[in-house]
Amino acid sequence: MNAPSHGIDLTCRTEALSLSDISRAFGLSRSSAQKWHKTPVQSATGHKAALPPALHAVAQAIGVRLGPDVLEGPRPRYPVEVVLALGQALGYLDRHGHLIKENQGKGRGRWLPAVPTIDPATRRERHYVNHLAAALGVTNEAVEMGLSRKAHSYVQPDGTDEMGRSFWWAPTVEHLVERARTGPAGRRIRLYGGRHTHSAAPGRRSFRTGCGKIIGRSDHWMPDTAVVTCPACRKAEAAG
Ligand SMILES: [Zn+2]
Repeated sequence: MNAPSHGIDLTCRTEALSLSDISRAFGLSRSSAQKWHKTPVQSATGHKAALPPALHAVAQAIGVRLGPDVLEGPRPRYPVEVVLALGQALGYLDRHGHLIKENQGKGRGRWLPAVPTIDPATRRERHYVNHLAAALGVTNEAVEMGLSRKAHSYVQPDGTDEMGRSFWWAPTVEHLVERARTGPAGRRIRLYGGRHTHSAAPGRRSFRTGCGKIIGRSDHWMPDTAVVTCPACRKAEAAG
């Protein structure tokens, strides 16, 4: 069973929870929930724009209005439904409100949830870098490298969660897997300092051009419609 071992079972709780209750309900140390109440976190995209506190963002997403006693009082207590939705959004709780063992104790940094999390507003599953990487058969680093390319990234995420982690909806993951299956066609890159436009495909550990070169951070992604000019890539595409 997944029953919490810390003494707070959210599935049968009715009274509002203090910050230390919330920490315990997620299997974390006492002060962990403080940052979801007050401290802003940075977004994954590296922008300095701060995200709203996660508890507030989730309350808004599920349409719960927080009173001044919660927002400004010295001893804030959050409704159970907000805490449940937060746990599910961040990856501590499953759809039934039970602790997810693999994610217990993960409080620091931008950790990747073991299984997809649940979006508070829509209840849809949010897939993360590790889930997309597994679906594509590439490393997490390969996906992260793709993410760092903003404009022409073909792993463009659907959004970022309350911790600033990039996520994709299930249909997008399926679409990206389908695109990866159809081979190098559709993806184009100009290598740093080069004149040719190459085709590109994800390999096991990194993205490669159709002619076998490893794609690095300084290379430039082209629109999908760009014409491949590298003779070796054209040959590979014709053969593939
Ligand atoms: Zn090439």
